[in-house]
Amino acid sequence: MDLFANDPDLLSLSYEQVKALAEKCTRCPLSKGRNKVVFGNGPVPCNLMLIGEAPGADEDEQGLPFVGRAGQLLTKILESVNIKRPDDIYIANTVKCRPPNNRAPLATEQEACAPYLSAQIRLVKPKIILLAGAPAVKAILKAEEPMSTIRGKWLRLPGNEIAVMPIFHPAYLLRNPSKEKGKPKWQTWQDVQEVKHALEYFQRVEELAKEPKE
Ligand code: URA
Repeated sequence: MDLFANDPDLLSLSYEQVKALAEKCTRCPLSKGRNKVVFGNGPVPCNLMLIGEAPGADEDEQGLPFVGRAGQLLTKILESVNIKRPDDIYIANTVKCRPPNNRAPLATEQEACAPYLSAQIRLVKPKIILLAGAPAVKAILKAEEPMSTIRGKWLRLPGNEIAVMPIFHPAYLLRNPSKEKGKPKWQTWQDVQEVKHALEYFQRVEELAKEPKE
């Protein structure tokens, strides 16, 4: 996925205009099977953004990201560090339409959708992007490292200043529910605590910048 293959047609558009285009998109075959386009949800701009893999059945029905079982767990994980949906985080996926039978999106489908994700990042202007699960990590960072070693690491969005942290996908945590120290769920809790601290830092820097200079 080349996030910087910016589609010149999208560069001058507002968030609502890009969203309206995505809602009529037929750039890849996933458009044929969709019920609703799941563009993204949350404030624009927003310091924190999360990119997941692809919409599932519940998302396709409602037109909103992460609203099924995995989404509910994601909401709980975020709330554990007082990050509230939809006010504190903008959420999107590598593709905006549901792949058939919940299969992983193909690289060609992610490429076709990349200009929308790129436009979202440009408009949301996040300070931190969380990549949930291996397909998002692979598509965006081109990293082949297993999630068990790459999760929780601060990395950089290629060609950009934005800080990126891979985290386990909540669907993986549903299959690995142990909260025991060292297990994926416990590790994810460490990761979101670190993200919360980083967000507080960015917020403080923004506040200081607004204070009158002596
Ligand atoms: N899984 C994802 O990766 N994204 C969603 O929106 C829902 C489930």
